[in-house]
Amino acid sequence: MNFDKKEHNRQYYLKNKKQILEDKHQYYLKNKERIKQVNIKYRKENGKRLRVVAWINNPKAVQARRQLRNAVGLGKIIKPCVCEDCHKKFPKKKIQGHHFDYSKPFEVIWLCQECHRQLHQEKKETVMKRGI
Ligand SMILES: [Zn+2]
Ligand SMILES: [Zn+2]
Repeated sequence: MNFDKKEHNRQYYLKNKKQILEDKHQYYLKNKERIKQVNIKYRKENGKRLRVVAWINNPKAVQARRQLRNAVGLGKIIKPCVCEDCHKKFPKKKIQGHHFDYSKPFEVIWLCQECHRQLHQEKKETVMKRGI
């Protein structure tokens, strides 16, 4: 059933492609300003969150963090309980390793959640050379 419906949609789309695209374009032209505003609003509200998600889900980052976590678990790397940026003391689980280069999973600086988040945000905005 699903397949048929999909196929039907596809056929419909192919037959009416031009018209659909034209409609879309017309819609866009008519609503250009409004769409722009909505996008700006959306970006303002979700920009921060989206950026953080992109960093968290980066597969290289995920792997580097996993390797780091393992090394910490095995005692190969000692996780401090002080943030290297703000120098405040935190429970260890609140301290996160920040990678400058995900191909070097054990080269990190240790930051509290807040400093870490800020670092990533600034970085995305200024595109720092040192990697993510
Ligand atoms: Zn900090
Ligand atoms: Zn980081």
